[in-house]
Formats: sequence, C-alpha cells, structure tokens
Amino acid sequence: MSADKLSSVSKEVKPESMSLYPLGTAAAPEQELLCIFGTGDLGRSLGQRLLHSGYRVVYGSRRPHSCGPLPQGAQAMSHEAAAQSASLVFLCIHREHYDFLETLAPQLQGKVLVDVSNNLKKNLYPEANAECLQRLIPGAYVVKAFNTLSAWALQNGPSDANRQVYLCGNGAEAKQAVAEVATKLGFAALDRGSLSAAKELEDFPLQLFPEWRMPLYVAVGLTAFIFVYVVIRDVVYAYVEQGEDNSFRIMVSLANKVFPIVSLIMLSLCYLPGVIAGFIQLYRGTKYRRFPDWLDRWMLCRKQLGLVALGFAFLHMVYTLIIPIRYYVIFWGSANTISQIRENRTSVFDTTTAWRSDSYYSMGILGFGLFLLLGITSLPSVSNALSWREFSFIQSKLGYLTVFFCTFHTYLYGWDKFLRTYKWYMPPAYMLSLVLPSVLIVLKLLLLLPCVDRSLTRIRQGWERTDTQDGSEKPLLT
Ligand code: NAP
Repeated sequence: MSADKLSSVSKEVKPESMSLYPLGTAAAPEQELLCIFGTGDLGRSLGQRLLHSGYRVVYGSRRPHSCGPLPQGAQAMSHEAAAQSASLVFLCIHREHYDFLETLAPQLQGKVLVDVSNNLKKNLYPEANAECLQRLIPGAYVVKAFNTLSAWALQNGPSDANRQVYLCGNGAEAKQAVAEVATKLGFAALDRGSLSAAKELEDFPLQLFPEWRMPLYVAVGLTAFIFVYVVIRDVVYAYVEQGEDNSFRIMVSLANKVFPIVSLIMLSLCYLPGVIAGFIQLYRGTKYRRFPDWLDRWMLCRKQLGLVALGFAFLHMVYTLIIPIRYYVIFWGSANTISQIRENRTSVFDTTTAWRSDSYYSMGILGFGLFLLLGITSLPSVSNALSWREFSFIQSKLGYLTVFFCTFHTYLYGWDKFLRTYKWYMPPAYMLSLVLPSVLIVLKLLLLLPCVDRSLTRIRQGWERTDTQDGSEKPLLT
C-alpha cells in the first residue's frame, strides 16, 4: 500500500466529519487513517488501540449518529463514506451480518479487508468466514487477522503471553499492510499462509485447553484409581477384617496419600519421555528421524504434566501442614501421654527414628522447593528472561534432582515397613508411586554413564551413525 495512495484516500474524508486531530497539532505529520466497520466491543477496543498507536480511526456504522460513545478522537459515518475514506478496513462485525457488504462492493474494491470474526462452534459453516467474505467481495484483498485476540487483550495492549497476531491471506501486499499495523500496535505478526488457513485460525479461539487434555485425563484417572485402592486397603479392609470404622480417614489421611502419589507419578511421567527419547536416539544413532507419534505427543505436554503434578504436590503440602490440628491426631497424642502417666512409663528417645523422620521431612521440603522453582521457570514471563542454557539447567538438571528428592522422600516414608505390610495381597499405595520414578532414575543414571553420555551428546550435536556392511561405524557429521 503506497503512502501516496493512502494520503490521497485520507483526504477524501467527508468535510462534515469532525477533526481527527486535537487542537494545536495541526502541523503534525499526517497520520494514516484506518476504517473499522462495527462499533461493538472489538471495534471500540481496536479503535482505541489504533488511536493510541498514532493512527486516525473512522468507524462505519449502521447508526453513525447514535452508536454510543466512541474512543476519543474517532468519528463515525455511514459504511459507504467510511469505506471510501481508508484503504484498510477492519470488519468488526459478526459473519451473520456480512450480506450487506455485497452492496458496498464498489466502495471496497481494491481495499484491504481485515476479517477478525470468529464463530461460536467449529464447522458451523462449510467455508471459513474470511473465504465467505472474499467470495462476497472478490475485488478486495481479504486478510484474516486479529481474531485470536480478545477485545480485553486489545484494550490492555500486548502482554508477554498475548503478543501474537496470526494472519493469512492471498495478497502478499495486503498481508504486509496488516502486519505493519499489528507491529505498530506492539504485536508480533505471524504469517500462516494463504486464505485457506483461515478456518484453522478461526478454530484457534474455540480450542479448550488442548495441551492440558491428556495431563488432566491422566490426573483424573490416576486419582480415581489410587483413591479406590487406598479406600479398599485402609477402610474396607479394616471394616471387614477388624470391624473398625475408619471411614473418617477418607477426608484427610487418604486424600493426603492420594495427592503425593499422583504428584510423584505425574512428575516421573513428565521426565520419562525425555529419557525414552534419549534411548531411541542412541538405538537409531541419529537425531534426524522423527520420534513415534505417541512420544511426540507425550513430549509436547510435559510442561502441563509437570504443572498438574505441582498442583497435587501443593495440596499434599497443605494437607500435611494441618496434621497437628486434626482432632484424630490431638486425641491420640493426649491419650498416649495420659496412658504413659498412668502406667508411669516414658517412651525412649530413638535416634534412628529421629534421623528417619527429619530426613523424610527434609527431602520433602527440598523436593517441593525445587518443584516450585520448576513451576515458576515454566511461566512464559520468566522463561523468556532466561537463556536456553539457564532454562535447560533448571528444567533438566534441577528437574531430575527434584525427582530424586521426592522419590527418596517416599522411600524414607516406607523405611522399615517397606515390602512388609500387605493387606489382601495389596502393597501399600506409596509403593505403587515408587515404580515409575525408580525406573526413571535408573534409566537416567544409565544415560549419564560417561560412554553413553558421550555418544548421546554427539548424536544431539548432529553426528549420525551409518551401519556399513562389515558393521563398523563411520561418523557423517561432527
Ligand atoms: P458486538 O459487540 O456484537 O458488535 C458487533 C457490531 O456489528 C455491532 O456493534 C454493530 O455495529 C455491528 N452490527 C450488528 N448487527 C449488524 C448488522 N445487521 N449489519 C451490520 N452491522 C451490524 O460484537 P464484537 O464482540 O465486537 O465482535 C465483532 C466481531 O469480532 C465478531 O465477528 C467476533 O467474532 C469478532 N471477535 C470478537 C472478539 C471479542 O473479544 N469481542 C474477539 C475476537 C474476534 P454498528 O451498530 O456500529 O453498526
């Protein structure tokens, strides 16, 4: 879009329209004029952001004189007049109302039309909204953009987590013009290709936590399984075999067994795919072959697995802190003291037990502290401030240390009861939680063996193994 063309278009603004410049700035260099159809939520937010970024804004509205308060400095006029005044038009109206645009085809001829629309559900229409718009006005250059931002995000301006403006369209110049506006507004424009990508962009805002789905299913499935397991083992067993009603333990004791178990299993699930990927690369002797789909998908949700695990660890920490104020604990604490007084006996201080309990708590606290650090550094605003080396040091090295502390914490919990207390052939639930982290730690230690680590590092630096007929290995890349 040439500046000459834009300035000549700008001069066509109707004389009766109010001044777009505040008084006293008449000598300022002429600012680009952009048009917005629709004075609704998105239209207003977008207009305000454009004005703040130095553009002039004119609205095309069905009711230019009664469309309510507009951002200061903008003016409203009929669709025809507004369309004529600018070379770039944002359509901030719903797709259901696009039909009236057909009558404006002459005014919109050769203009860049930015389609920001979304739908209420996927596959509501056979063609994308932007493609429908292009069909209605074949003489315009339709660009799909800004639909992934909310009116709220536009009003508040770009933030770390919300900086991208995806766009697609068939005209390179038109896309360039929209990308320039997005950049001037402080967003990063990402080109997704031709207008045929519009459907994909329109589906973006309809996604409901796609990366969280698998981790949440795993968390719900594990929680349900472990909960049923501990209820059978700790409540049903006591009732059937000893006639004791332990059901009150469900609310705190059993919950505080389920949360750490699920947390530790999910933390291991977060690190296991990385180790499996390492073994696959060693086996294949190259990093240039794709991992199986299931591993790819698993790797892509590691962050979410880790964050869900952190959530469960947090619950475990809170439930542990309330233990001293539980009625059950206070009752048995006092009962024990009273019985010692009555029987005139004192329990002997056991240094081994003191070591065990202190080490158990210490490992738990250290594990949780590192776990928190992992969670914090996974936030985009924090991770963006770290170099790749710092990020991978925390997420990988400290991550494995977290797995180690948490696993050791659980082994200390078992201590001398380990492998001994079965009920109905069911081992204690915490033992179930140790299987995956123990396997993970052993596999990781194998990868850390100097000869294995050297090979894996070379493969990850680009070296490839080629198996020749006599079985010897030859480096291709170094
Ligand atoms: P809105 O508040 O309902 O505003 C829509 C505007 O369209 C109205 O204010 C009206 O402006 C105009 N309009 C209504 N009926 C019309 C008709 N029959 N013919 C012509 N124009 C008509 O909707 P919105 O939230 O601003 O959303 C506008 C578009 O942006 C939608 O396609 C939406 O999917 C998309 N979007 C919205 C958001 C968001 O956060 N709101 C985010 C991304 C994308 P006038 O009265 O001035 O004519």
